Amino acid sequence: MDKKQVKVPEFDWKRIGDIEEGRKNLGQSLPVAVYRLMQFTVFDTLQAHYGTETAQEMFRQAGFSAGMAFAKNNLNLKAAFDAFVAELQSVLKTLAIGILRIEKSNADKTKLVLTVSEDLDCSGLPVVGETVCHYDEGFLAGVLKAYTGGDYEVIEIDCWASGDRTCRFSADKK
Ligand SMILES: [Zn+2]
Repeated sequence: MDKKQVKVPEFDWKRIGDIEEGRKNLGQSLPVAVYRLMQFTVFDTLQAHYGTETAQEMFRQAGFSAGMAFAKNNLNLKAAFDAFVAELQSVLKTLAIGILRIEKSNADKTKLVLTVSEDLDCSGLPVVGETVCHYDEGFLAGVLKAYTGGDYEVIEIDCWASGDRTCRFSADKK
């Protein structure tokens, strides 16, 4: 599937709803297992319908849409790069999504290597010998798009599921 042919509409953050109002007793949080159950069963369903590659690409697109909306609604997109990264790290940690580090970056930030430890999507999964964080690839590309306006190709190089202890992503501006 060519992703340029299918445009995923921009996510409207209002659809998240008023959680405080709606979940007065249960609140904002839920176990990671519930998130993973949802994510993996949706992936299995897409895979059964469309095959592995298309399911992975759909997860990337969904992640991209999420990353764009997340950045626009939670981060100061006008901040300088270091301040932007610091805020992104802080928000990702507060929301228990993962512990982000920028491992390498060139001067104009067109080539980055990022790591995410204790990743929501994969840390602790059985090792299957391949990377599985396609949603995260899209999410990071979406965050970078929202901040820089540029298109980045984000590829997961190392993953808990490929036998590493942290997820490592290369991000190259196209
Ligand atoms: Zn991973």
